[in-house]
Amino acid sequence: MKAIQFDSSLDPRGGDTPFIVAREQACIACMECTQVCPTDALLPIASELTVVARQVRLGTPVLTKGKCLAWTGKGICRLCYYVCPLPESAVRLDGARQGPVFDPTACIGCGLCEEACPEPARAIRIEPIA
Ligand code: SF4
Ligand code: SF4
Repeated sequence: MKAIQFDSSLDPRGGDTPFIVAREQACIACMECTQVCPTDALLPIASELTVVARQVRLGTPVLTKGKCLAWTGKGICRLCYYVCPLPESAVRLDGARQGPVFDPTACIGCGLCEEACPEPARAIRIEPIA
């Protein structure tokens, strides 16, 4: 999906440094990168969802409720829930407004929710795990 980008200017040794900007193109958890990495920087992970759910932690979901269309009542929006590969686990809908509630312990950090969250809300973001 070309989710991984490279920027040589970030690496003082001149080598390309990989990073993901979920808002532009989130990870689809295909795990292809883990199959081709020539070092042990990425260890091979199978693409089955049960394996991915157990082994992948790319980041932590951080919701700003005051920006969320559902929680503020400014609109009906469940996009983050619909695109999540782990609905009812990483994210569920709660209350009369059916606002999203994220579970950082179940979330794989793929960023599909961040990519889907509409402008101008941009209420959910995935914070990288250092
Ligand atoms: S909550 Fe967001 S980042 Fe976490 S698994 Fe679901 S779509 Fe991916
Ligand atoms: S996609 Fe964004 S605005 Fe819509 S419910 Fe999810 S967090 Fe709220």
